[in-house]
Amino acid sequence: MMIALYLSIEDALSRRRWTYADSPADLIVLILMDSSEDIALSHIPDTDGGNDVVKCRCIVIVNKQGGRIMTTLYTREQVCSVCGTEVSAVSISSTNTFGSMDLDTRPAQMKRGTMKYWVYRCPACGYVADNLAKPIPVPEDFLESEQYLSFGDHESLSELGRTFMQQGRIASCAGNNSDAMHAYIHAAWCADDASDEYWSKQARLLALEEMGKQGYLTDESILALKADLLRKTEQFEELITEYKSKTFSDDLISKIITFQLLKATEQDTKTYTVEEVLAESGS
Ligand SMILES: [Zn+2]
Repeated sequence: MMIALYLSIEDALSRRRWTYADSPADLIVLILMDSSEDIALSHIPDTDGGNDVVKCRCIVIVNKQGGRIMTTLYTREQVCSVCGTEVSAVSISSTNTFGSMDLDTRPAQMKRGTMKYWVYRCPACGYVADNLAKPIPVPEDFLESEQYLSFGDHESLSELGRTFMQQGRIASCAGNNSDAMHAYIHAAWCADDASDEYWSKQARLLALEEMGKQGYLTDESILALKADLLRKTEQFEELITEYKSKTFSDDLISKIITFQLLKATEQDTKTYTVEEVLAESGS
């Protein structure tokens, strides 16, 4: 259960410590009121939301035991570097994770619920970036190109999924292969959430392509990520051939790769967490 409290900034500042031990709520959303910003409650992660729009400066989510801050959001204006439009964007100033991440680095909650604040779209020109004030790294007419706009016959991807895909397309076109890889992986997570098998696979294939452009991989954590991308795109033989005789200096990565090889032989494309690898390896 979650409840929301609406407070003036003055009221919030006058309290030195938040204690809600007697509250029936598991989580409490403090909405610090301000006169200048609008935030829809549906933008608060992990709440049922609703369509209420409140004026506020920031939102703090605390648990009732110790008033511990879990995720803090605030709004900021971003002036689009392409067309000059002012975009009001909700951003994260702090968050936490509780639980184990997935093998493709997808974080557990609460951070998992903040993905929609990782990237923004200018409603006027369609530019997509983690900060729209950043100069666009490609010629501006790229935003009108087929390469940027088209999703072919598969229109199913969610708005957030498309936004991450387009962030990847800009980064790829600019030659920022690592940024493109991460953006495509984020798009894949959006597709996973929507049970969209086509884009779950396509976005991961694109991530692998960007990884390949980075040359010979030596970073063990990137190699572990690659193994998960190969397995989830059903490239089981490739995974086994590439990894069966590889050794790793990091003990956890060695266990992850052993696990990936086992799952590849079973042709298993499911999502697993690091915790599940440790449980399987008896750690
Ligand atoms: Zn713009």
